Amino acid sequence: MTNIPYAEVIGDPIAHSKSPIIHKFWLEKLSIKADYRMFHVKPEELADYVATRREDQDWQGCNVTIPHKLAIMDHVSDPGNVRASIGAMNTVARAENGDLFGTNTDAGGFFAPIADVPLSGQDVIVIGAGGAAQAVLFALSRIDVGSVTIINRNVLKASALLARFGLKGQALEHGSALPAAALLVNASALGMKGQDDLVIDLANLPEDAIVYDLVYVPIKTPLLKAAKARGLETIDGLAMLIGQAAVAFEIFFGQAPPLEHDEELRKLLLA
Ligand code: NAP
Repeated sequence: MTNIPYAEVIGDPIAHSKSPIIHKFWLEKLSIKADYRMFHVKPEELADYVATRREDQDWQGCNVTIPHKLAIMDHVSDPGNVRASIGAMNTVARAENGDLFGTNTDAGGFFAPIADVPLSGQDVIVIGAGGAAQAVLFALSRIDVGSVTIINRNVLKASALLARFGLKGQALEHGSALPAAALLVNASALGMKGQDDLVIDLANLPEDAIVYDLVYVPIKTPLLKAAKARGLETIDGLAMLIGQAAVAFEIFFGQAPPLEHDEELRKLLLA
């Protein structure tokens, strides 16, 4: 218990989370007297955690990470119908009536760095069909993109996602020739530290294509290096990490974060 408002990130494990760095940075910049911490919650502790925090009026909410993103949906209300769309929650907060509700800020975070890109009617390639890909596909379904090609190890899973989000397009195996596209997003674990490399040939992408890698460990992934070598515009995973945190910060603390300090924040996150 504290005497000041606070939010936190829960998960198992949790020590690796970068959320406290981001939220504390913004709280300090805005001189908000509040705290943001990490809290280790094991799967069997989730119900007790929610019950305890529900009674703690200083608690503004929490970010939710692995392995609780599905289980948390059984403990909070779902006004945005997240269960039927993205299918996972990453943020819980208190509604004005005191009720706890869940949402998912990943789709908004993904969209933040491409908000000014005219993608309506444009073709997109998405690599991956896991949790992050579902947030990406949800965002793409909202901006009326053209054809979406999903490349995934499990092609059936990818096809099902196209149908679920009402997107037209195709699901392909890794190694298939890429169609041309205005945007290519890596939403898979490939290229992440400790995972297999993402092997992909960018030759078919037009010169004005954007390559967006959600992986942020390492920050300069082989995919982004290859895109840069081809002279393509790139967006790294920190952009989405900061974007999804920004949506959550406003929910917890009622103010938009000061995004003009993003460069300083990025240095802090990479230190
Ligand atoms: P996830 O639900 O476990 O999905 C992992 C995806 O990667 C699946 O599509 C899986 O394919 C694919 N994959 C994993 N290992 C593979 C391999 N050896 N060969 C081929 N495909 C493989 O994970 P997630 O939560 O979506 O996260 C995916 C990545 O996005 C991670 O690197 C994560 O750090 C990053 N991410 C970043 C942000 C951000 O804010 N920047 C937010 C969320 C996630 P199958 O479907 O065939 O199993």
